[in-house]
Amino acid sequence: MEGKGILIVLSGFSGAGKGTLVKELLKRYDDYALSVSMTTRAPREGERDGVEYFFTDRKSFEDTIKNNGLIEYAPYCGNYYGTPKAYVEEQMAAGKNVILEIELQGALKIKEKFPESLLIFVTPPSAGELKRRLTQRGTESSEAIAGRLARAAEESEGIEAYDYIVVNDSIDRCVEEIHMLVNASRRAPVRNEAFIDEIRKQLQSFVKGAE
Ligand code: 5GP
Repeated sequence: MEGKGILIVLSGFSGAGKGTLVKELLKRYDDYALSVSMTTRAPREGERDGVEYFFTDRKSFEDTIKNNGLIEYAPYCGNYYGTPKAYVEEQMAAGKNVILEIELQGALKIKEKFPESLLIFVTPPSAGELKRRLTQRGTESSEAIAGRLARAAEESEGIEAYDYIVVNDSIDRCVEEIHMLVNASRRAPVRNEAFIDEIRKQLQSFVKGAE
């Protein structure tokens, strides 16, 4: 079977716990790589440039778009967010499963460009729990929280575009569930075309040899 990594899109409402899940996944398994996005949003306390995001201004972001340096980008709550192309290509070539932690519009663009990518939507067990987590995080004003909840309501309309949904009620269980979905997806025929072609060719040569 091919050892090629797959492109994984992980989306979910802001506050669904995607960041924690991804960190834990990377800690447990070495076959994943996380793409670091570029954003015009200001860093939150404790966020470092080049780690959580590449923080940049609008002008540099727009230049990167012009130079074809992003696989996808989208506006979100007044800021731009985008996926730098080079890192994703390098890591995929090295056989890693590359994770893009991006929102719905970006996810749809990725699915269009790379139909064999795997789209997973992470959600908290309930809307009440989401509101509680956003408030508890304490990093955003009540206005920003209201904006993120409004955006969550919009995004909930797009959930059917994803291949799977994962309910984040326990980090431990969720990490294993995501890992299982990824491994199962790697076994889909669409992601193993070279292997299938090869086995078909070999079978044909046996059939011909027996004639
Ligand atoms: P936050 O400001 O909470 O870090 O991120 C806001 C939203 O932007 C999240 O839903 C996150 O997944 C999404 N996001 C982060 N990076 C990217 C990106 O490169 N492209 C797109 N389309 N969305 C992103």
